[in-house]
Amino acid sequence: MKRVGIMGGTFDPIHLGHLVVANEVLNIYGLDEIVFVPAGNPPHKCGMGASFVDRYVMTCLATLSNNKFTVSDIEIKNKGKSYTLNTLKEFHSMYADTEFCFITGTDAVINLPNWHEPKELLKICKFIAVSRPGIDKEDVKLKIEEIRRDLNGHIEMLQIPMLDISSTDIRERFKNGISAKYLLPESVEQYIFKNNLYR
Ligand code: NAP
Repeated sequence: MKRVGIMGGTFDPIHLGHLVVANEVLNIYGLDEIVFVPAGNPPHKCGMGASFVDRYVMTCLATLSNNKFTVSDIEIKNKGKSYTLNTLKEFHSMYADTEFCFITGTDAVINLPNWHEPKELLKICKFIAVSRPGIDKEDVKLKIEEIRRDLNGHIEMLQIPMLDISSTDIRERFKNGISAKYLLPESVEQYIFKNNLYR
């Protein structure tokens, strides 16, 4: 049985925190591959920073050197809202004999009850909720335990210190002309400059 982690997020832009999370999850859970899935048209967001194509290209550039990392454009190919349930169903039909886990931020996971068909989603996939240090641990833990109980699903929590880097902070830095060097891969930084993103 192959074991694959689906790394879901806006990646606007992707940064070293995301890459460290993916690598840690790969090692801790002994996965065979991590597929990065930039969110296409998330049902809960209206305006976003960079376009899907830019976020997709930046994710490809950032993951190029790791042969266990791949990137999927699945959420842009499908028109309409990008529901994680549909994305995972498609992965199930594309990969035979594979077990999936979905990796994303705790801030997203605490809203899981409002996602599209969350019970069905948790039936087909385990969730790994990753958080930055400094987030109110007890509060979030209680909330996730409640969701786990109500939705009868498998959700694990993981704290990664490097995730203290944030896409919001990086976008602000580009907007204000403050260096974001060493927070994201150099190729992604160059792509942002070249394409005038986040100005
Ligand atoms: P987001 O804005 O990308 O991220 C929320 C928080 O989690 C941010 O603090 C973010 O940090 C962090 N984060 C994002 N991706 C991460 C990852 N893979 N590992 C660790 N931390 C991560 O979140 P979102 O837009 O809510 O989406 C997250 C995922 O959930 C997407 O795949 C989205 O499609 C899915 N989703 C689905 C539904 C649905 O099916 N109805 C609803 C909501 C969300 P940075 O800002 O630094 O990235």
